[in-house]
Amino acid sequence: MAAKIIDGRQIAADMRTDLKAEVAKLAKKGIVPGLGVILVGDDPASKSYVTAKQKACSEIGIYSDDNRLPGTTSQKELIALINKMNKDPKIHGILTQVPLPEHLDESEVLLAIDPDKDVDGFHPINVGKMMTGQKAFLPCTPHGIVQLLIHSGVKIEGANIVIVGRSNIVGKPLANILLQKSPLGNATVTVCHTRTKNLAEHTKRADIVIAAAGCPNTITADMIKPGAVVIDVGNNRVEDPTKKTGFRFIGDVDFEHVKEKASLITPVPGGVGPMTITMLLYNTVESAKRAAGLLK
Ligand code: NAP
Repeated sequence: MAAKIIDGRQIAADMRTDLKAEVAKLAKKGIVPGLGVILVGDDPASKSYVTAKQKACSEIGIYSDDNRLPGTTSQKELIALINKMNKDPKIHGILTQVPLPEHLDESEVLLAIDPDKDVDGFHPINVGKMMTGQKAFLPCTPHGIVQLLIHSGVKIEGANIVIVGRSNIVGKPLANILLQKSPLGNATVTVCHTRTKNLAEHTKRADIVIAAAGCPNTITADMIKPGAVVIDVGNNRVEDPTKKTGFRFIGDVDFEHVKEKASLITPVPGGVGPMTITMLLYNTVESAKRAAGLLK
């Protein structure tokens, strides 16, 4: 039987409706969550990500402070802007769109952000807190994946989960969240990468396979066990002359064949993608509540 499709757009829309209601309640207390956004240069993909983030903020009532800086901006100027936002009580989250132009030092920029406003969850303080099971901003894509599983009724506790990919933004933090002794975790997690011997041996044992390799067809039907849950994080641009743009995006999973064997599967697009911005909004609202003393 073909797998049920996990509708990431719908789950994200439902979560945003809940967040909008929460933002409206906060507004009655005089609290408006604020996100400071910094874009340096004019990379078209970064511009469209930033625009999508700002639109999402305004749709649910989050204030967004838009800072579009020229590609010639110096490290000193960028850090000065971050320091200003660190002190600004209207800003609860700071987001510096990456990649930054080559002359800027990304890790120094990340360290300059106040960990209490690090809504991307990439500051080493937040990474360390997450690893040790303390309250922290969880990185948006991994947290979004976990929320997709929870909203789809997938049992994480006790599941054998295989993650393909060990990047600092997806694979590693996701593994960490899923193995914590917490309602988001308690899974048995295996992380695979390009040096893993016989990838299929691992994926075939998994109740849940999460592909975050950035490579089409990394997961094929013969690599999963019948009834497994398959989450495709991949977002790979491939040429497609039938499209006006000349390209389209596909995942890391051979969707057409894997969906015949899996019990649940995410599509690309419309699976993990819509969750990432949703979790950024979630973290910004959390941060505003923390700043107002409404959370421990
Ligand atoms: P990345 O930094 O390139 O990391 C890819 C990881 O996959 C690496 O650990 C690599 O192993 C591993 N890998 C690559 N090919 C493999 C293979 N054939 N077998 C086993 N492991 C393999 O990528 P990323 O930033 O984590 O992103 C992964 C994908 O997710 C990309 O397509 C990206 O566009 C997408 N993504 C989507 C969202 C979203 O919101 N939807 C957000 C973030 C990323 P090594 O470490 O050994 O090189």
